[in-house]
Amino acid sequence: MSSSESNVDPQEPRENEYTVGWICALQEEYEVACKMLDRRFKGPRMAHPNEDNTYEFGQISDHYVVIGCLPFGDYGTNSAAAVAKDMVRSFPKLRFALLVGIGGGAPTRKDDIRLGDVVVGAGKGVHGGVIQLDAVKRYKSVDGSLSTQLWRHLNGPPNVLLGALPKIQERYNDPDEVDKIAQNMERMSNRPEFERPSDDRLYRASYPHQGGSDCENCDAEELVTRVERAVTHRVVKVHYGTIGSSNSLMKMVDERELYANDPDLRILCFEMEAAGLVNTVPCLVIRGICDYADSHKNDDWHNYAALAAAAYAKELLDNLRAEKVTEQPGWGSVLDKGTLMR
Ligand SMILES: [Zn+2]
Repeated sequence: MSSSESNVDPQEPRENEYTVGWICALQEEYEVACKMLDRRFKGPRMAHPNEDNTYEFGQISDHYVVIGCLPFGDYGTNSAAAVAKDMVRSFPKLRFALLVGIGGGAPTRKDDIRLGDVVVGAGKGVHGGVIQLDAVKRYKSVDGSLSTQLWRHLNGPPNVLLGALPKIQERYNDPDEVDKIAQNMERMSNRPEFERPSDDRLYRASYPHQGGSDCENCDAEELVTRVERAVTHRVVKVHYGTIGSSNSLMKMVDERELYANDPDLRILCFEMEAAGLVNTVPCLVIRGICDYADSHKNDDWHNYAALAAAAYAKELLDNLRAEKVTEQPGWGSVLDKGTLMR
């Protein structure tokens, strides 16, 4: 456990009082998640001590939260599902999970996605919020253009979370309201490596990376010209829509363009864990944009993007009433149905 003994609160909740699971995959995602806790607890003695995952326990607003992180270097949809499975076993009374971390953005003419933005997987249409990319069938239309068809739909986020989004959006849009997401991000202000990087370069989709670690060989002429964003009362821009999930790292810009511009799919962001989770446990996916899912991608924005996503997740929990959450059935009932036994 990473929390030092001196931080441990003497009033520890019991195992079945934890209601929210917060799942992350990377070290930086885990660190910012822990920073969003208002109080930390030592945590209950594990019911299953041979679990590989790392847990942290604490409180955000009135919610008791278990943060679970995948084993080091182990990511992808299958491992995310494995973490969820272990969490369900140890904490059957958790009501839902937040999958919080980084993802690759898919900017289009319609969706002005930029590095450091946050994408929340809450689709308005039939797609729920997460699309499993392996379940998209591509075919040539009569006019020769490439079209897509989805043969498997994943579950949408739980209603208790969807119900909180209008309130959050209202507060976000109101200039008289304090920028809570920015305030949450301040919690990392003593860690310079989490500061916002200055460069946000989007290359034309047709132009591949020319080698080197930081696009030093790439031609600035090939950058997409974008109008600088107007300064608003909000530090982080939040988008709501569809997230594409796949077990392989999305680095194919052609695919990005296809999925993002498809009017039916309209994918805003790509990541690697969600498809393994959303049909397993009630779950909402929150992603900070760290690259553009192309060959130019690097790690420069990882920390900041992870922080932005975690800060949004805390804002969500701060706006969610604990009674609403405890009304929900524990996700252990999902396990009983056998969906986790595959
Ligand atoms: Zn490059």
